[in-house]
Amino acid sequence: MKQFDFGVVVIGGGHAGSEAAHASARMGVKTALVTMDPETIGAMSCNPAIGGLGKGHLVREIDALDGIIGRAADKAGIQFRLLNRKKGPAVQGPRAQADRELFRLAIQSELAAQENLSVIQGEIVDLALSGHVVSGVVLADGSVISAPNVIVTTGTFLRGLIHIGERKIVGGRMGANASTRLADTFTTLGAPLGRLKTGTPPRLDTKSINWSALEMQPGDDDPVMFSFLSNGPTAQQISCGITHTNERTHAIIRDNLDRSAMYGGSIEGIGPRYCPSIEDKIVRFADKTSHQIFLEPEGLTSNAVYPNGISTSLPEDVQLDYVRSIFGLESAVILQPGYAIEYDYIDPRALDQCLQYKGVSGLYLAGQINGTTGYEEAAAQGLVAGLNAALRFSEQEPLIFQRSTSYIGVLIDDLVSRGVTEPYRMFTSRAEFRLSLRADNADQRLTEIGQGVGCVSKQRYSKFQEKLGRLEAARALLSERSWTSNDAIKAGIEVSNDGSRRTSYQLLSLGQVSFSDLVKLDGRLSEIDPETSVQIEREALYAIYLERQDRDIAALKRDEEILIPSDLDLNSISGLSNELKSKLERARPGSLAQAARVEGMTPAGLSIILSAVKNMSRVA
Ligand code: FAD
Repeated sequence: MKQFDFGVVVIGGGHAGSEAAHASARMGVKTALVTMDPETIGAMSCNPAIGGLGKGHLVREIDALDGIIGRAADKAGIQFRLLNRKKGPAVQGPRAQADRELFRLAIQSELAAQENLSVIQGEIVDLALSGHVVSGVVLADGSVISAPNVIVTTGTFLRGLIHIGERKIVGGRMGANASTRLADTFTTLGAPLGRLKTGTPPRLDTKSINWSALEMQPGDDDPVMFSFLSNGPTAQQISCGITHTNERTHAIIRDNLDRSAMYGGSIEGIGPRYCPSIEDKIVRFADKTSHQIFLEPEGLTSNAVYPNGISTSLPEDVQLDYVRSIFGLESAVILQPGYAIEYDYIDPRALDQCLQYKGVSGLYLAGQINGTTGYEEAAAQGLVAGLNAALRFSEQEPLIFQRSTSYIGVLIDDLVSRGVTEPYRMFTSRAEFRLSLRADNADQRLTEIGQGVGCVSKQRYSKFQEKLGRLEAARALLSERSWTSNDAIKAGIEVSNDGSRRTSYQLLSLGQVSFSDLVKLDGRLSEIDPETSVQIEREALYAIYLERQDRDIAALKRDEEILIPSDLDLNSISGLSNELKSKLERARPGSLAQAARVEGMTPAGLSIILSAVKNMSRVA
């Protein structure tokens, strides 16, 4: 067998690259992370925050598999808030504002402490290929690092072009070179490339902000951590300021729209609809006279403040004008102007469910290069690519994440089945099984799977098993005795007096009954620790809906098991429209469930594909 320098090489040290390299190395595979500047490993290119709705779920899932983003965010967190706290647990999302510097250092120390992992400085300019199989990477000085698995995580760097008004700067993000030669490699490979854009606001000097006039928002009193291993924040906690744009701000922006790179016509890429620039907001929501801005300090020792909500590609003089029109920012000093960046991405429909590029064996792509936006989406893909590249190296079966068991599965399936029309970000609404895909139970859904493939530490696994033991014991206790409605009413619990008997667990699942109510009914329940009782409360709340959802999941699993052979000629299936055929040809769904999610698919189309699959297996 050919001797390689490494089992897996990762290109890029952003959020996808760090997670990919760590995952591969902790699976025991000799791994290299090659990046232009190792000092910037783990750098947050844009907002100094991790998590939020949907995104927080991803971080929890990565943590459940022993990934690093959650632990790093906990170490760097300077303000923790559980979003949607007043809504049901399924749509609550943990979020932390992070000290940029502490986050970067936490990621770097995780990588430094990981066995089997080497960090190499350099720019990768080409891939080494043997036909349609990757065999390594080529550095700018012409040297080659050989490896049978390569993961590309170059973020916004492929042909990156920064726009500040009429000014254009070639770069991967502010202060970094773009990656142009590697982009040429993908063109030569015939990869389906497209152009996307994203933007960032100007950074303000904290000393120039009139904080005393502003409304301040502190973090939660009981901070919710990302990692199942963290006990509480370690960094000092701070508050954010809140201010608003006003009619004058809007007039300044409106009067200068033609000078905005976005509106002046110099950007061809499509931007994130859900993270609009201030220009976008003024145009799209023309009737609104004010937009909220959070003033988020970038760190405990940093002078920079991130004004969340006013990303822009207007020229610097206009940025200063509109910023100073805002209450509390009348004397603001801009430390770094806002800008937009355009970059190449690769249509993720060219990838399989492991994020392997279909045209080249052993080549994986993860992160913003696949058309997503956000640290969390990047990290989740890095984890999937890293685990699967390591499994491929060890000649083991791939690990495919299912929509029914994780947001990671939803993310990957959405990308490879549907592609993207704008930078893709995660939302809870994207998950059809969100009642069971909660942030609080990510470990119950995934840690055992991680243990199965060998990516979970002993410490995590034993802590997890202890937790499962406590949950099991609590569920048993809650199901042991049943009570009449009269018993419950006598104990001060509000239930309808319908004469039916219910176990404590069933009472809890009524929604209006809390754990502390039950203790009045059954004193033994006071022995259950608070963490376990809160978890059981959440689980019971959804018990009735989950039964229904389980039936849908079973139907989906049946469809997932019907595999579409890769040599089935989709073009030759009669009865499918040409448009659908070409969409199927691009997506190359691996299963009937994936085919169902191809845009424009109908039940009739699905049954035609099903009979073609059956015919094929009969002939075979
Ligand atoms: P990155 O974090 O970009 O990392 C890429 C890595 O690849 C870097 O380490 C780089 O040095 C390395 N690299 C590139 N080319 C090569 C090469 N040829 N050889 C070696 N190394 C290479 N996300 C949001 O959620 N909301 C936002 O509002 C938002 N706005 C953004 C605004 C801007 C201006 C930018 C730049 C990003 C923004 N993001 C935003 C996106 C967020 O920063 C990214 O989604 C995230 O960083 C992507 O992670 P990644 O690992 O894919 O890539």
